[in-house]
Amino acid sequence: MTCDFMSLAVPGVRGLTPYQPGKPESELKREYGLSDVVKLASNENPLGPSPRALEALEECLPGLARYPDGNGFELKSAIAARYGVELKQITLGNGSNDVLELVARTFLRPGLNAVMSAHAFAVYPIATKGVGAELHVVPALPADHAVMPCGHDLDAMAKQVDENTRVVWVANPNNPTGTWLEPARLEAFVAGLPETVICVLDEAYVEYMSPAQHVDSIAWLAKYPNLVITRTFSKAYGLAGLRVGFALAHPDLTDLFNRVRMPFNVSIPALVAAEAALNDTAYLAESVELNRAGMVQLTEGLAALGLKCLPSAGNFVCVDMGRNGREVFQALLPKGVILRPVDNYGLPNCLRITVGTERENAVCLKALAEVLGRA
Ligand SMILES: *Cc1c(COP(=O)(O)O)cnc(C)c1O
Repeated sequence: MTCDFMSLAVPGVRGLTPYQPGKPESELKREYGLSDVVKLASNENPLGPSPRALEALEECLPGLARYPDGNGFELKSAIAARYGVELKQITLGNGSNDVLELVARTFLRPGLNAVMSAHAFAVYPIATKGVGAELHVVPALPADHAVMPCGHDLDAMAKQVDENTRVVWVANPNNPTGTWLEPARLEAFVAGLPETVICVLDEAYVEYMSPAQHVDSIAWLAKYPNLVITRTFSKAYGLAGLRVGFALAHPDLTDLFNRVRMPFNVSIPALVAAEAALNDTAYLAESVELNRAGMVQLTEGLAALGLKCLPSAGNFVCVDMGRNGREVFQALLPKGVILRPVDNYGLPNCLRITVGTERENAVCLKALAEVLGRA
């Protein structure tokens, strides 16, 4: 008989379920013998990486026998110049998920808790429970809310903060809903938190926000020392496969994150490609414009099919299928279309669709029309 490892695992880990990633293209091709697959399941940039990032990658290859710069000086300098922050405010991560985990490891443990909204990003529970802390999941705004259905209810979240709360997870815009927070309302929420509560503002999709939606959160860092802003190169910067993201925060917080951060958590290819992508402003502008046009194409096409979408400020849209979303997801697979079920986010009738190229969006809409019998 093998040892009952489950009973040996720390309680927080026992209660976890593995993160469910989007179905890989290669897997679908194998399963159905398909050659052409449209994957709109993981909010990746449909343009592919910036050409400047690809060039930087090629140039870095001969240096791969060496460890990377453990302080990421060049990339941090580029980030500092772009966002007007100091190097000592930047923590680099192996994807921004890595920095989310650094926050949890620094400030949470059994007996302490974190607060998040229902339907918020799945990495927050993993980071929180993985270190044995409790998670307070606050009901979201109702699905029939006039302005922001299924959005974060900041008033309710503030009420859940107690003397054992050390972290509040806020996603703006949120994944998988796409909902966002009104700037003045969000600032009032941050300002109202006790300084002993770290407010993590996850801005993975910030580049896609319109000027009216966008908040100047970086300016808030000077006012709120308990604010941590996280950003990623996985979405608008088109480098999801390399794994690189960062946090901006007060130097004292940054110092603590660097104590728990594993050495060399960001690889040489990730460092050089992220720096090149950050400096390729034309690529970013093109990516954002492609998303803007594709969002119109998708939401108009979905409306024509009689489907309702949640409001989205990201590069994806959460759609109510009016029936079990996972069944629709399954029915789309033989047609070579991969979308994302979000039943694990408490949204069983919805699917999340990433905005793709014009062709990918059209293929997706056509397949959906067929599956739903509205072709
Ligand atoms: C995709 C995403 C991230 C980014 O994760 P990486 O580890 O940087 O790839 C972070 N937060 C949210 C809400 C996301 O959707």
